[in-house]
Amino acid sequence: MKPPKTIPDYIRTIPDYPHAGILFRDVTPLCADAQGFRLAVDQLTLPFTGQKIDKVIGPEARGFLLGGAVAHQLSAGFAALRKQGKLPPPVIAQNYALEYGEATVELSEHAILPGDQVLLVDDLIATGGTAEAAVALVERLGGTVVAAAFIVDLPVLGGRKRLEALGVKVHALVAYE
Ligand code: IMP
Repeated sequence: MKPPKTIPDYIRTIPDYPHAGILFRDVTPLCADAQGFRLAVDQLTLPFTGQKIDKVIGPEARGFLLGGAVAHQLSAGFAALRKQGKLPPPVIAQNYALEYGEATVELSEHAILPGDQVLLVDDLIATGGTAEAAVALVERLGGTVVAAAFIVDLPVLGGRKRLEALGVKVHALVAYE
């Protein structure tokens, strides 16, 4: 009998995407497979069951599909961290540097309430720029990002350490050196 598939079995690695020299880790096959998706959502959620999480925040776009599923599991609300210009006002915005350039993300002012305990969920943490922008926006609305959960961590890019320095607990299912 074949051993059951694990998370890395479902992750594709694409060299030179979206730019030369970048090794892109693709969770599309993981999300497309019923067992893989359940495994990923269950493992992302597990450390936070029984913990007070009011909201999950997920960055566009893979953070939406993973974060929405985790929010449902935790009976929490979901806050969408979107690229600039996608959300109706009132929004707050944050500029940040990412692995492949610069960007601005926005959050609806109604998405987080003062005192909210927030879990950040995304497919991957690289430099931590996106996650740090999310932390800043949540704090500006009076909430606290208590933890962050990712399928993939790329430790060499330093994102985990950056988040931990902000007091955010980091949970990642796989790490690629
Ligand atoms: P960071 O802001 O540098 O930590 O980059 C993380 C963000 O960029 C996440 O929202 C990821 O979805 C995306 N990202 C960066 N590198 C990859 C990759 O190799 N695969 C999938 N997403 C990536």
